[in-house]
Amino acid sequence: MNELILIKYGEIALKGLNKNAFEDVLLKNIRWRLRELGQFKLRRAQSTVYLEPAEPEAFDFDEALDRLTKIFGIASLSRALVVEKSMDAVLAEICGYLDAQLRAARTFKVETRRSDKRFPLKSPEISAQAGGAILSHYPHLKVDVHNPDLVVNVEIRDFGAYIHAGSIPGAGGMPVSSSGRAMILISGGLDSPVAAYMMAKRGLALDAIHFVSPPYTSDRALQKVETLCEKLVPYTGSIRFHCVPFTEIQEAIKEHCPEELFTVIMRRMMMKVAEKVARKREINALVTGESLAQVASQTLDALYCTDNSTDLVVLRPLIGMDKTEIIRIAYQIDTYETSILPYEDCCTVFTPRHPRTRPKLYFVEQAEQGFDFAPLIEEAVQNTVCKTITL
Ligand code: ATP
Ligand code: MG
Repeated sequence: MNELILIKYGEIALKGLNKNAFEDVLLKNIRWRLRELGQFKLRRAQSTVYLEPAEPEAFDFDEALDRLTKIFGIASLSRALVVEKSMDAVLAEICGYLDAQLRAARTFKVETRRSDKRFPLKSPEISAQAGGAILSHYPHLKVDVHNPDLVVNVEIRDFGAYIHAGSIPGAGGMPVSSSGRAMILISGGLDSPVAAYMMAKRGLALDAIHFVSPPYTSDRALQKVETLCEKLVPYTGSIRFHCVPFTEIQEAIKEHCPEELFTVIMRRMMMKVAEKVARKREINALVTGESLAQVASQTLDALYCTDNSTDLVVLRPLIGMDKTEIIRIAYQIDTYETSILPYEDCCTVFTPRHPRTRPKLYFVEQAEQGFDFAPLIEEAVQNTVCKTITL
């Protein structure tokens, strides 16, 4: 039996001249994610990638489909049987291939797509003949064109005729790294992992940067963030993870700055360190998990102060989202349970009792001038520890 997977892409199909470049990235990502599942060939035509295992009988289709549903740039996936491009071949195989589904259904319909216009029969004729063959094999079945239990698909394409029982949705978006690379400021919280997922969906490969403040923060708090990155990797691809020692900067803020500005100054220091680490990696964009009005440091005035600490593009994909929407995605990508583990974060350790919700940039800058942070920032950059988190 000659089975394969039809991978259809969405947004890439709309690209003009550089469509090929996007396809190349997608194919590379697919090869990498499925590399240990055995040999397979990828062919492309008509906004579809044909994934053809060298040994279909031995190929783990379920695992392959599970991995493929996490690869951005894919609109839908179908596990299909390929047969010779003739009506006889379709009729000979259709019942045998879909036997289990046909037995389980009470109603069905056949949908035909005929992208090879040279095929002698038109789509309605193909559907009618296939439907007739199915009805004569399975007397219990009835045709229901509006709300069938099972849709039997016949696709007449470039390389053959394909039979399948429908498609599953892909992850959508653009292939990771087709939009370049950004650096996510990742905490152990709920928001930043979701922000990472959302920017990967728009085609960004990611570095991650995390600030730790030992002894105020523990190893297991750091471990938690690494676990979150591991959970993101199936979607984002490998993540270069930078761990920044942040204790001295935080202690200096505590000692030299007014308490109600701790949070905003800390956020600015994070951005400054992140910018320096990013520049070394030739990265021009930072990503944060901030959402407007969620907490005191995420008012418009606070975000203005934060933005002013860096020249890089700051992407905030959650800016207009409610917590409930964010939590829904966290469940979907399986980061929720890890994110809610109650380990201390460097932000929580130095939380002021009454943070200024509307900090003014002028006063924030003035407060920072009471101490020379530059050497500490440089030291933090130098002492940043880096590793790759991969599958
Ligand atoms: P999250 O759920 O992502 O922690 P939050 O709503 O708790 O976000 P804050 O704690 O104010 O908000 O942090 C805002 C953003 O700052 C985070 O989304 C993240 O991008 C970044 N950030 C916070 N703490 C750290 C940290 N320790 N290391 C790296 N980035 C951090
Ligand atoms: Mg947080």
